[in-house]
Amino acid sequence: MKKVIFLLVDSLMPTVLEECLRLKTVPALQFLKDRGRYWRECVTVFPTMTASVDSSLVTGTYPDAHRVPGLIWYDPQEKKIIDYLNGWRCVWKLGIDHCARNVLYDLNERHLSKQVTTVFEELAARGKTSASLNTIIHRGPKKHRVRLPFLARLLTRFRFHDNVSGPDVLTLGAMVVTPVSPQIPRHVQGMRQRFGINDSFAVHAAKALIESGQQPDFMLVYLPDNDHQVHRANPAHAENTLIRVDQRIQQILNAFGSWEAAVDQCVFIVTGDHGQTRIGNEREFNIDLDRLLEPFRVLQLGEELRDHDLVVCNNERMTYLYPQNLERQEAILQQLTSESRIDLIAWKQGNGVMVREGGSGREVFFAPGGPYVDLYGSEWTISGEWIVLDLYEDQGIVRYRDYPDVLHRLYGALYSQDVPMIVITARPRYEFLTRLYPRHLNGGCHGSLHKYDSLVPLIVTGTDQPLNEHPRLVDLKQFIVKLFDAHPVP
Ligand SMILES: [Zn+2]
Repeated sequence: MKKVIFLLVDSLMPTVLEECLRLKTVPALQFLKDRGRYWRECVTVFPTMTASVDSSLVTGTYPDAHRVPGLIWYDPQEKKIIDYLNGWRCVWKLGIDHCARNVLYDLNERHLSKQVTTVFEELAARGKTSASLNTIIHRGPKKHRVRLPFLARLLTRFRFHDNVSGPDVLTLGAMVVTPVSPQIPRHVQGMRQRFGINDSFAVHAAKALIESGQQPDFMLVYLPDNDHQVHRANPAHAENTLIRVDQRIQQILNAFGSWEAAVDQCVFIVTGDHGQTRIGNEREFNIDLDRLLEPFRVLQLGEELRDHDLVVCNNERMTYLYPQNLERQEAILQQLTSESRIDLIAWKQGNGVMVREGGSGREVFFAPGGPYVDLYGSEWTISGEWIVLDLYEDQGIVRYRDYPDVLHRLYGALYSQDVPMIVITARPRYEFLTRLYPRHLNGGCHGSLHKYDSLVPLIVTGTDQPLNEHPRLVDLKQFIVKLFDAHPVP
């Protein structure tokens, strides 16, 4: 059985990839595409934020099963906002210790549901070895000691005493020591290099594993640099960044001696976790939620929850709102509806989801089970104005346009927690603004259900194993496990 290398490029977008392919500036991606299969529109999950998406990728489930709602969400048991390190000013306000613990420990050991299994756990059960190189979701059968870099300890005064779980090989930048750590140059591990959470570190680790004959059966390599650049540069000018990513992928292919040898020995899967939408350049493209929600008592970062009306958790182009006083929920929904820059407003109703369009107030309701079958074979009840979710029926099948796989994805987000929640998304070119959170005017941003944020290219090379002609990120875990099941150990 071939080994599998999964390259997860943050904010990889089909338009940018295809422009680079046309200009012949990404030879490694071109090679993998030419030798394999290519889908330009693989659907990711919602919210289109790395924490929720990677949880789905690694577990093959939507957030209603894996229970990681997003990058920022509210934990009603602890009465705390959970932040997996997004936006330094809000992390500072929430407490660096709290947020560092959220991402280093809670995410994998507490928040990710024990009812689901990760690809690492499933492969271990089959006697296969695996590695997670800098992936945020890495729960697996082995315990690894986390050692914060001296500078990080100095800055945060945070002491970390717990072990985290992971596959056979785990890197979280320089924070976990692996057998190949000595081969990784020091200059890619400093504070300015995010302590090793960068493309260079992950690729050095992958190369060292391959060249030293320690390559595990499955290796998930997370490449985050593209995301940072696209946020700044705006998605229309992301080609240069992807060219650099391609150079990293070339280094991995080179480690096999030749690129031909690489695809002979390994299955390569390349995809992204979400896309990005270009944000307008004027202040009106920031939907100021603090101002819109002024009539209500909104919990401010760092405050203790008391008699507040709601908690707001900003995930860039989507936001979770948690009404604390249900008598005020209708007034909150009315206020949100008055803002036409809000695209969709959704909340739980009965066993389903009510969705309202911002501005117009048009509504559609859907619930699992029922007479309608969608593109992926799931059954639904749908009533009201289908146009709100841009749904249409063709040859007896419910199909999606601007909001891919929207029924399952929106349901998955709203049912990721058992408390009253409202989901709102911003129209294309807009993002949500709340105090202390980062903004991206004239840059790129993601989080929403819209296809701009939701479609990623997918390349699979080195195997003929069938994959749905309408692929989704949530289906890839099963695809990987099946690759190994199809070739059991003799
Ligand atoms: Zn991002």
